[in-house]
Amino acid sequence: MAALLQVSEQMGKELIKVESLGKKFTTEKGDEVTALENISLDVKHNEFVCIVGPSGCGKSTLLRIIAGLDKPSSGKAIFDGEPIEGTESRRGMVFQEYSLMPWRNVEENIWMGPELSGKTDRECRDTAERYIKLVRLEEFSKARPHELSGGMRQRVAIARALANSPDLLLMDEPFGALDSYTRILLQKELLKIWEAHRKTVIFVTHSVDEAVYLADRIIVMSDRPGRIILDKEITLPHPRKRDDPVYAKMVASILEMLEGKLS
Ligand code: ADP
Ligand code: MG
Repeated sequence: MAALLQVSEQMGKELIKVESLGKKFTTEKGDEVTALENISLDVKHNEFVCIVGPSGCGKSTLLRIIAGLDKPSSGKAIFDGEPIEGTESRRGMVFQEYSLMPWRNVEENIWMGPELSGKTDRECRDTAERYIKLVRLEEFSKARPHELSGGMRQRVAIARALANSPDLLLMDEPFGALDSYTRILLQKELLKIWEAHRKTVIFVTHSVDEAVYLADRIIVMSDRPGRIILDKEITLPHPRKRDDPVYAKMVASILEMLEGKLS
């Protein structure tokens, strides 16, 4: 009951506030690159937001700043009312490249977070078991990453991020390296997990189709320097059907918009 009350209190409130954020890099040659310019964005509790944009427009940079892995050059990034300074377990990250520890098996990878936060062996094992079940890898709990397919590795990466009980899940093209069949399967699984756990998700992709399939809200970014050119709620009910004309029209209109802005 208390948990339910907490969820309903949080609904509609922002978890992330990004205000007039900019990021400049200096390359090794000494040139200045503006990766992000004047980004303002609020993400509410329990929202599933997809960020779409062309390669190099600053999507990963924005996600890294929200994760606390990088600092903005101007503006602010606020998480749950506090400025973001460094990483913390309340913000979990899943990358495109398999970031699992190759010498650790599946369960050992998944309990890394709880282990680092000082949980007992028993608690680590229980947590790993729970999340292994959630991502349906019971038969592979003792397997090492090189023994798994790409899709299985990304399931482990998702389970590992969730095992820290984050409030916010940051996902940077997590399905980008997968074949299209596995990708669709994982999109479905991720939505199931999201519906059951109701984490806030910021999911970066350059697939407009993936964004329309998953998101409550799509943020479209321009070519570098990345600016927000569209912020659109997607109200289609789940499970979404790719052969629904409304779905197809939505994908086409966002693609058209991206192409128009980029030409
Ligand atoms: P995306 O994820 O949208 O493909 P990134 O956020 O990775 O884009 O990069 C945005 C821009 O910033 C690119 O032009 C990239 O070369 C540049 N960039 C990113 N990280 C660095 C860095 N550490 N040093 C210099 N330039 C960088
Ligand atoms: Mg990127």
